[in-house]
Amino acid sequence: MKTGKLGDLKIVRYGHPALREQASPVGRVTREVKALAARMIELMIEARGLGLAANQVGVPRRLAVVVIEDTPTVFIDPELEKAEGSEKAEEGCLSLPRLYGEVVRPRKVKVTARNLAGKRFTLEGEGLLARALCHELDHLEGRLFVDQVDESTLHWLLRTSDGEEPVVQPTALEDALKVFLLAREGEKHR
Ligand SMILES: [Zn+2]
Repeated sequence: MKTGKLGDLKIVRYGHPALREQASPVGRVTREVKALAARMIELMIEARGLGLAANQVGVPRRLAVVVIEDTPTVFIDPELEKAEGSEKAEEGCLSLPRLYGEVVRPRKVKVTARNLAGKRFTLEGEGLLARALCHELDHLEGRLFVDQVDESTLHWLLRTSDGEEPVVQPTALEDALKVFLLAREGEKHR
């Protein structure tokens, strides 16, 4: 697997083509796959996220990390085996920072994947964990939470300064996405 220099990897934002790609299977757990997972865990913790998919660091391969009971857990070639019920709750994404909105997700899911030792495992999750797993599995299909967000609940959560209450600012989806695309354009010309 070609990932370039791992130290250069960073979390990419809305507008990056990798976020819309369908990730291809990882297959064998090579040293490079392990290094990629380690770097993703680092980036996720740094960004205080609950999950991160490889697409979000510009590498469209089926690999995701999710924090489960305070422990970053690696999912290689994960598959959704079962989904039950539905639940609507707020969601955000490290690739669309400060944007939040409500998304309907299964209440309970069962996922199989392999760990870094190449061993297959099954995990059942409910509530927030089920939500995080579905969110990351979506990333691996090139899908984002904004694709299915209830637009009437979409808002920015803006922190003015430390210690102050964050400001909630409702936004239309189109306007919000434009903010990310303009920021991306700005970066290109810098
Ligand atoms: Zn995300």
